[in-house]
Amino acid sequence: MPGNLTFDDLKSRVTDGAIDTVLACFVDMQGRLMGKRFHAVNFIETSFAETHCCNYLLATDLEMATPDGYASTSWQSGYGDYVMQPDLATLRLVPWLEGTAMVLCDVLDHHTHAPVPHSPRAILKAQIARLEALGFEAKMATELEFFLFEQSYDDIRKSGFRDLQPISGYNEDYHIFQTTKEEGIMRPIRNHLYAAGLPIENSKGEAETGQEELNIRYSPALDCADYHSIAKHAIKEIAWQQGRAASFLPKWHHDRVGSSSHVHQSLWKDGEPAFFDPDADHGMSTLMGHYMAGLIKYAPDYTFFLAPYINSYKRFAKGTFAPTKTVWSVDNRTAGFRLCGEGTKGVRVECRIGGSDLNPYLAQAAMLAAGIKGIEDGLSLPPATTGDVYEDAKAQDIPQTLRAATQTLRNSAFLREAMGDDVIDHYTRCAEWEQEEFDRVVTDWEIARGFERA
Ligand code: ADP
Repeated sequence: MPGNLTFDDLKSRVTDGAIDTVLACFVDMQGRLMGKRFHAVNFIETSFAETHCCNYLLATDLEMATPDGYASTSWQSGYGDYVMQPDLATLRLVPWLEGTAMVLCDVLDHHTHAPVPHSPRAILKAQIARLEALGFEAKMATELEFFLFEQSYDDIRKSGFRDLQPISGYNEDYHIFQTTKEEGIMRPIRNHLYAAGLPIENSKGEAETGQEELNIRYSPALDCADYHSIAKHAIKEIAWQQGRAASFLPKWHHDRVGSSSHVHQSLWKDGEPAFFDPDADHGMSTLMGHYMAGLIKYAPDYTFFLAPYINSYKRFAKGTFAPTKTVWSVDNRTAGFRLCGEGTKGVRVECRIGGSDLNPYLAQAAMLAAGIKGIEDGLSLPPATTGDVYEDAKAQDIPQTLRAATQTLRNSAFLREAMGDDVIDHYTRCAEWEQEEFDRVVTDWEIARGFERA
């Protein structure tokens, strides 16, 4: 069930006064919901067909800057409009806000109404269409890990992001007592999202002080990405409503474990799991072997889409459950790719590289493209690794910095063929800009280290 409201449901709820506000949102390059709050009467009368936004929204950064170097828009071209076209299949209640519904929009060219190629939803749809042409459907689940802090966002910002207090006093991995203490936030998150039409499975404490995980049932890839974006947004809003802060920064402190977003993936044909072969090793079909071989071979090319910021790369540290190597293993949490559900119809691959800051549309699209390439080229899967993969000197490393991942993205012939030069040039510029912004800043670390002693 992608949404939980039909357009007719919405109209009758607007008429009887239950809904007065409709959020029309699209997902930006950073994975955020951006858009407008409509008076519901205006939405059901006219704006359900389309609305507009400035085209800089798909060429900006977390600070809403206007970087140069994007072919799609600029000061020179006058920063015109895009069309936001509501996808009414995503219409849903927003139970944590009074009288409010939400719809996700596709972003279209203002003049031609063609999909904007670098918009994240269009990028994922393009790879889903390629997979469908091969006769398969992808089902995915993205785990959402994050930290909860005692203070509010405003208090944290006013204190200069100092003295952050995680909401718990100890590592709360699978901890029922500690997570009971957090039910004031986590229970509304689960229940409001469920009431919004998201198939919530569970939440649990994660392997660090104040760290949480939310799991949503695996779904067709586009629904999965929609769910992820809505859930991430809701987690922040619900934490804010409770006077607390939720953070998806992958590594908020160098001595703490980071937050990830593992992506579980399987392909299906005619409603049956195409990754399952009861007679094969691990129950893994030949198709699954090709798909995983593509994922592994091209992981350095698409790492940027799993780790898009400077901070993302601080997570890839030995002995933290975050991977450092692009190898696969059976139910082994030290490898980049973990085979789960061995020997069952639920056999699937979990990519463990992505951080909690990934954009789910871009991450899933890039991995689908790699899997498709593996299938098309009939790539063979290298043998599984065993033991502590952190210590496997022969295994290929994940790019260790944003600079390195930008280079592999820029030079990826495979991604250019799968997604198009325009898209790859656009995201390469996005990656370069992030690096340029960081490079010009003098950090606290440099000052403390060198001020007196250098
Ligand atoms: P973990 O031990 O990593 O928490 P879980 O058993 O909780 O593993 O499953 C993690 C995620 O995998 C869940 O969100 C679940 O919906 C998803 N999942 C289960 N089966 C499949 C499948 N066949 N394809 C893709 N995802 C799946």
